[in-house]
Amino acid sequence: MSIRQLPDTLVNQIAAGEVIERPASVVKELVENALDAGARRVDIDLEEGGVRLLRVRDDGLGIAPDELPLAVSRHATSKIASLDDLEVVATLGFRGEALPSIASVSRFTISSRRAGAEHGAALSVDGGRVGDVVPRAHPRGTTVEVRDLFYNVPARRKFLRAERTELGHIEEWLRSLALARPDVELRVSHNGRASRRYRGGEGEGLALDEGAARLVETLGEAFAQAALRVEHATTPRPADDGRDAAPALRLHGWIAQPTYSRASADQQYLYVNGRAVRDRSVAHAVKQAYADVLFHGRQPAYVLFLELEPARVDVNVHPAKHEVRFRDARMVHDFVYRALHEALAGTRAGNAPLVAA
Ligand code: ADP
Ligand code: MG
Repeated sequence: MSIRQLPDTLVNQIAAGEVIERPASVVKELVENALDAGARRVDIDLEEGGVRLLRVRDDGLGIAPDELPLAVSRHATSKIASLDDLEVVATLGFRGEALPSIASVSRFTISSRRAGAEHGAALSVDGGRVGDVVPRAHPRGTTVEVRDLFYNVPARRKFLRAERTELGHIEEWLRSLALARPDVELRVSHNGRASRRYRGGEGEGLALDEGAARLVETLGEAFAQAALRVEHATTPRPADDGRDAAPALRLHGWIAQPTYSRASADQQYLYVNGRAVRDRSVAHAVKQAYADVLFHGRQPAYVLFLELEPARVDVNVHPAKHEVRFRDARMVHDFVYRALHEALAGTRAGNAPLVAA
């Protein structure tokens, strides 16, 4: 067979194979886009576990009509422009792959109105075939509607599970996003009925209390009653101009007292610079910190936010961005271990849990 260039739609469908595994992956990508656009409220409507319909509406910045075709083109993004930008990327997205991938394996419509613009517009894509931009009334913000996911990819459709299972995966992702962004309101409906609501906070000043309230909303009273607050940072070196520099590493969040352990690792949330990830060296550090206080075979529960200078971590390791690579994994490991070891030792010295029992 001779070598040939693959058509765009096929290229997008191949990329979709890496990024879009099931409805929950679509929800993740769309809600992350909403958050990157500065949304304060996100509405998620689902039908049949998100397979039949998955609609995400936000009140963010919006997209100009003439940019809608770009939004659904491969490798088109407003979030980075150079390799230098990639080194310090602060948004959740940057690959410009999600929308074209999703649009190549569904019946897809994006409608939007930019802040300050008078008119909104919409663009539909059917299995990768891009239509025309048409005028469409829309409040400020963006709505993405995804119908019949994988309708044109039978091999993928076969792997979809029962409605409840797919909904469960979506809810788990949303819980993870909700924990990271207590300032944003999230509302979910399934088959026409409101199924979940996370209330948004009032602003920066309330961040800690918002976080605590969100902890109860997402993981429940029992976790909150057992939760110890973690707040640990390296000592910053003063900058040349004498002002305080940001600490190189900061870990904050909550860990459950050993009395609240789990049979499975179902309540372990780690965020690196706001992005939910799995990381072996951090997981190992947590395990070590709990080694002396947890019964064998039991799993700790935690919600931990690790913050470090963007240049110290590579987020472009995997298309779905479930993993990161630390420039100095050993240092991160030891820092996390020390932070948790201290927090757990504090339980004996009377480090009170978050919510009184
Ligand atoms: P990425 O997020 O990696 O940039 P996407 O394919 O997810 O790639 O989105 C492409 C572009 O479309 C984004 O860079 C952004 O400019 C725009 N976009 C997508 N979703 C939204 C949204 N909800 N609000 C505003 N702009 C959006
Ligand atoms: Mg994106």
